[in-house]
Amino acid sequence: MAVKYKDYYELLGVPRTATLEEIKKAYRRLARKYHPDVNPGDPTAEEKFKEINEAYTVLSDPEKRRRYDQLGAHWRDGMDFTPPPGWERVEVDLGDLGDLFGEGFGFSDFFATLFGARPRTRAGTGFTMKGRDVETEIALSLADIHRGGPKTVTVERVEECPECHGTGRQGSRVCPACGGRGRRRREKKLEVDLPLGLRAGSVIRLAGQGEPGARGGPAGDLYLKVRLEPDRLFRPVGEDDLELELPLAPWEAILGARVRVPTIEGAVEMTIPPGTQGGQRLRLRGQGLRRRDGTRGDQYVRLKIVVPPSPTERERELFARLAREAAFDPRREMAGGGR
Ligand SMILES: [Zn+2]
Repeated sequence: MAVKYKDYYELLGVPRTATLEEIKKAYRRLARKYHPDVNPGDPTAEEKFKEINEAYTVLSDPEKRRRYDQLGAHWRDGMDFTPPPGWERVEVDLGDLGDLFGEGFGFSDFFATLFGARPRTRAGTGFTMKGRDVETEIALSLADIHRGGPKTVTVERVEECPECHGTGRQGSRVCPACGGRGRRRREKKLEVDLPLGLRAGSVIRLAGQGEPGARGGPAGDLYLKVRLEPDRLFRPVGEDDLELELPLAPWEAILGARVRVPTIEGAVEMTIPPGTQGGQRLRLRGQGLRRRDGTRGDQYVRLKIVVPPSPTERERELFARLAREAAFDPRREMAGGGR
């Protein structure tokens, strides 16, 4: 949106080549003439006084003057002005000027467009700006993404400073809470309704939860990227499947067994067939992660044969007897292999 160009040199009645001394002199002369104390209740004088203060704020500061001069000399006061593309905004401290007229004081939208200071009296008019989008990570457990639904997450984002309501000032002082920037980094707890079917790397968009807009512009959006916390039992495989490692005693593998197996929704019974080998993978259909449509992936159970770490005397005896009597040679196939 366009704002009205301000010719600060014309407002102070000085040439574009004026020295700082000449600018100061011109300002002092005009400020005396239009000061509100000299013109009580005269809105025209007050408006003029604001304009020359704004002009002086820019032209007396080498950095701001340089920036202003970059726009070129072809502009005339009151022309429709749109900032050139890529015009980078800077935050400026308005100094004590902000207090001359109390809370009602505001620089022009043109000034705000160039220097990023937000006028207080013209919120919602002129050049508004959408707040920045923010991307941040959230850590979710497998149970979270399986269940979906409400979840409280903590995100860090830039917000309008609540102490000064974004003005950067408290009375005559620079706001101590934000150092005059009008915004600050805060941790915020958000209640998020997790959709079904989230996976590692999924992104949740929360419209309007990004950084606040400027001068009445809409807030940006918040993007939450899912980081999956490692789980003690389950490992996600493929899109929707889970894998669990299940320890078996040697006799369970040999004889078969009915065992309790954890799933993401609680334990279920599973049959281990006789003669099961270590490393073998059994499938529990429909016990994996919930998909977007509510159906579920599968859970794989990888069997791992474990031996008693400290067998009792009796157990040792039984195994010793088995060793003497068993005909099984696990390395028969390697016989004659030359190793
Ligand atoms: Zn503040």
